[in-house]
Amino acid sequence: MGGNSPCASCKLLRRRCTKDCTFAPYFPSDDPQKFAIVHKVFGASNVSKMLQELPVHQRADAVSSLVYEANARVRDPVYGCVGAISYLQNQVSELQMQLAVAQAEVLCIQMQHEPTVMPIQQIMDSDHKSYFLHNELHQFLNFGSSSNVIHDIENIFGHDMVS
Ligand SMILES: [Zn+2]
Repeated sequence: MGGNSPCASCKLLRRRCTKDCTFAPYFPSDDPQKFAIVHKVFGASNVSKMLQELPVHQRADAVSSLVYEANARVRDPVYGCVGAISYLQNQVSELQMQLAVAQAEVLCIQMQHEPTVMPIQQIMDSDHKSYFLHNELHQFLNFGSSSNVIHDIENIFGHDMVS
């Protein structure tokens, strides 16, 4: 930084890199692409303003966030990193649904093997993630005598939970 070799930002902007250059600590000259992409998406003067508004100890985190967001925006010009976030959120809710189905199946198998039935409220309290299944569980427990209960559960979730 400073001195003979300008930081990546000053090199790209063709200006002299001073000792107190805001960019120098975060955009080393050996990684020109890092600044180029941030400059392309946010603009150098905006990045400079954002960094100057932050306390020094938060700037490195801000820069890695800006670099991440800029890369995401270039990959997906419409949604940027929101695209990645909602993809992951969908995955989470899909997995929560699978987990809920698996928990319901376990419950069902336990009920087929154990003569004494656990009180529903106790089962629900033991795992608040399955709380949202409360109504569905009540429904399928009413089918308790049927031999294809698991199949029924999948039908319930397949129709009600995906939308
Ligand atoms: Zn510089």
